[in-house]
This record gives sequence, structure tokens and C-alpha cells, in this order.
Amino acid sequence: MRVVWALLLCFLSCSAMNPLESRLDRQMHFWQKRLGLEDWNLTLRIVRQSQIDPNSWGSAEWDPAARTGVINVLDPRDYNLKGGEMKLDMECTIVHELVHIQVSPLAARDAHVREEVVNNLMAALLNRQCPN
Ligand SMILES: [Zn+2]
Repeated sequence: MRVVWALLLCFLSCSAMNPLESRLDRQMHFWQKRLGLEDWNLTLRIVRQSQIDPNSWGSAEWDPAARTGVINVLDPRDYNLKGGEMKLDMECTIVHELVHIQVSPLAARDAHVREEVVNNLMAALLNRQCPN
């Protein structure tokens, strides 16, 4: 009985996404499909600045063999932008991190070269400026 109760509690709290999380999750799935990554099992997480590199707005971890991964997006409490600008920038982060996963087999030796390629592809896909 206790196990059933724990499962029920987890079902209620573990699956409950706040409106921001569910919007970002929908955006991630939209871009995942557009980039041909729909066979990947990706999870979106909102994280505090202390959990990712300083001066970054997101990060990603992935396992190419299992085709699983996590896209981390910076928590609004730590963001340098607000409102619409922040929402536009969060979408940039999602596309940026998905492009990292897509180009990962190429594994550029130089991290700066890699960032430049990722940002060029991100900008081409979005066809707009990113606030950050
Ligand atoms: Zn990057």
C-alpha cells in the first residue's frame, strides 16, 4: 500500500510541469523534429546558474549510443533578461544545445570553432537575432 501511495505521489508531483517547463518542452520537441532528432529521448530541465558554466544560458549532456540526453535551460531567476526577450533567448538556447547534439559526431578539436559553427547553424535555423 505504501508503494502504491509513493507511486501516486510521484505521478502527481514528478509529472507536474509548470507552464514555463511545458512550453519549453513543447519547443524542444518542435526543434527536435525539425533537426531530425526525433528518435532521441531528450528531457528538458530548468537549472540554476550554479549548475552550469557561468556566462552560459544552458548546457546539454547526451549519450549517443543510447540516444538519450538532457537539455538544461537557465532558470528565469538567474537570467539577465526578462519577459519576451528571455523567452526568445530560451528558444535560442534549446536550438543551440540541439545543434551541439547534432554536430557532436564531427567533434571539432577547437571549442571556439565548435561554438561558432553551432551559433551559425542556430542563427540560420531561427532566422532571427538572439538577445544574448
Ligand atoms: Zn555551445
